Amino acid sequence: MVTPPDATTVASAGTLHIVSTPIGNLGDLSPRAVEVMRSVSAILAEDTRHTRTLSERFDLRTPLVAHHEHNEAQTVPGLVARLVGGESFALVSDAGTPLLSDPGSRLVAAAIAAGVTVSPVPGPSALLAALAGAGLATDRFTFYGFLARKGGERSKAIAEIAALAHTAVLYESPSRVGATLEDLVAAGAGARATVVARELTKQYEEFRRGTAAELAAYYSEHDIRGEVVIVLAGAPPVVLDEAALREEAATLRAQGMSARDITRVLMERAQAPRNLAYRLAHE
Ligand code: SAM
Repeated sequence: MVTPPDATTVASAGTLHIVSTPIGNLGDLSPRAVEVMRSVSAILAEDTRHTRTLSERFDLRTPLVAHHEHNEAQTVPGLVARLVGGESFALVSDAGTPLLSDPGSRLVAAAIAAGVTVSPVPGPSALLAALAGAGLATDRFTFYGFLARKGGERSKAIAEIAALAHTAVLYESPSRVGATLEDLVAAGAGARATVVARELTKQYEEFRRGTAAELAAYYSEHDIRGEVVIVLAGAPPVVLDEAALREEAATLRAQGMSARDITRVLMERAQAPRNLAYRLAHE
């Protein structure tokens, strides 16, 4: 890796543009994305064949360089050296925003460490498109990307999502939507409002809504095609009675939490009224 003299931007260096590309509808490629892709020395593409279709459609002659999870470790030092030397690149993935369940984070981190300017060209992302159309709370959400297919990592994530108090967003392959929803139901999330967003921005775009249990039943009976995002509403707050709240306050106090924080936690997590939370926290 190229080490910069300090953490500030290197004046003569080029720019690494992170360019979002369509998730289905080519009309979603922004004019600025086209302009940037046309102006750089090379487009760093997850799959050059895939990006060639986009290049041809927009009449881009910029050379394409393969940059994917299998060669990222090898290519990063050379690419960063070229950026430091003054060349600019556009990093794209097959669809949507690079780095979101897509390659690029290693290159971006190395470019920043080398003092190179990193500049996003925002645009399509299945994550935000699904969230925007789902109709569930968007004030706070956790993005899980693709869950592990099996093992402890998967069960831990499923349990975490089932207990999550705010919206969860997951990427999933069409053949595994039913299984993932069934696992969430088994972990106690069956009653939660859920949306499966499929084929966003494409001809057969669909938002299927129901409880997690209803959708688990639907997808275990229907084979689907296309690309899918699962959006799951947060768990409703646990309503505790005074004795249970007192016990919770005592546990938090034993963990060394201040009365002020205990008040906040009782109000946020357990929906306790302010006066009661304050009194219990100070007992
Ligand atoms: N970086 C991309 C982004 O910003 O959306 C996501 C890349 S990830 C490898 C691919 C996954 O994104 C798919 O398996 C699916 O879960 C989701 N996805 C991509 N395009 C989609 C679409 N048009 N409709 C629904 N989900 C989509």
